[in-house]
Amino acid sequence: MVVVNTCGFIDAAKEESIAAILEAVDFARGRGARVAAVGCLVERYRDELAAELPEVDLWCGLDAAPLLAALREASGGGEGAEGRGASAPVPRRPRAVSSYLKISDGCDRRCAYCAIPLIKGDYETVAAAEILRAARAALAAGARELVLVGQDTSRWAQPGWGGLEQLLAELKALAPAPVWLRLLYLQPDGIDEALLEALSRHAVPYVDVPLQHAAGAVLRRMRRRGDGSQYLDLLARVRKALPGAAVRSTFIAGFPGETDQDFDELLAFVREAGLAAAGVFPYDAQEGTPAATLPGQVPAALAFERVAQLGEAVDDVAAGYWGALVGRPLEVLIERGVRADGVAVGRCALQAPDVDGRTLVRGAGLRRGQVVHAVARGSVGYDVEADAGRREP
Ligand code: SF4
Repeated sequence: MVVVNTCGFIDAAKEESIAAILEAVDFARGRGARVAAVGCLVERYRDELAAELPEVDLWCGLDAAPLLAALREASGGGEGAEGRGASAPVPRRPRAVSSYLKISDGCDRRCAYCAIPLIKGDYETVAAAEILRAARAALAAGARELVLVGQDTSRWAQPGWGGLEQLLAELKALAPAPVWLRLLYLQPDGIDEALLEALSRHAVPYVDVPLQHAAGAVLRRMRRRGDGSQYLDLLARVRKALPGAAVRSTFIAGFPGETDQDFDELLAFVREAGLAAAGVFPYDAQEGTPAATLPGQVPAALAFERVAQLGEAVDDVAAGYWGALVGRPLEVLIERGVRADGVAVGRCALQAPDVDGRTLVRGAGLRRGQVVHAVARGSVGYDVEADAGRREP
């Protein structure tokens, strides 16, 4: 069975998901395999998809039970029957040095442009016991870094058990212990002194805070709080608590009603904010969201022009951040052992998996999963070059 996990967040993701389903159908045809499409896009558009793509054998939204039942059946039925009936060896991914842990799902906020609450519903916490169980399994399988995700991670708490501080402390105390804990998607109004203190004690100095814009008027229309000057204050508090922290953000350009002046405000903010990285996206109207029917929709060509301009500003500022690391010590987690050119590929604590740059370390014998104390020698865009020093197992 070929399983395609889909995304329904924005149009580009929907198109990519449908292309992946079609690719899976092609792959499965003639091999006697079945195709299952699962996840958010299916949750939202199941009937339409099933009508358009009858070649798909199983449509399964956010409830994984039908998929698990079909997989059990495909593998011969019953618990523990995985792999039986396979006709050819399946290549396994090399063990991951980094593992994502979902600590919550859904969102109670209602940002005007966002389809996630329509797909996933209201915020729900994953229980501490479940998070710790998943963490133990990931660490036992070789993960060295745990990356905590959710749409709104800063508000995690389990009544009667504790909040994020407790969760981070318990994760850090597991055996084997994670080398790094990283928390993604911290909403700006959820970052308070208690959270910063918890991050400084237990996590890497990395703050992923989706700001989306800096002009107060645009943020109000987005149904979000804050403005550029409040965000600069927030970043100052972050840097005080976590000196040298990498701050990553995301911005939307071309939101309905965004004027030249609003956009200039955003550009000026980005030039001042000293971010280590940011994703920049053109506004993409999603059906069923309030923003889709707002007046003042910005022409796509202008939105793309603004994205390009903002992207350049982000690149410039980020180059300054990464360049300033030269000569500094870095802890690097090796993800790919030494290549023919004598360089191993990893990430320093200031770089998250999948979205950020890499750290290229010169040093003999470096192995995947190893933690190396290195010194930054240079930077190229978002990548860092470093020389290896002391190693840990
Ligand atoms: S906080 Fe994030 S997930 Fe929640 S509605 Fe806003 S953009 Fe969507």
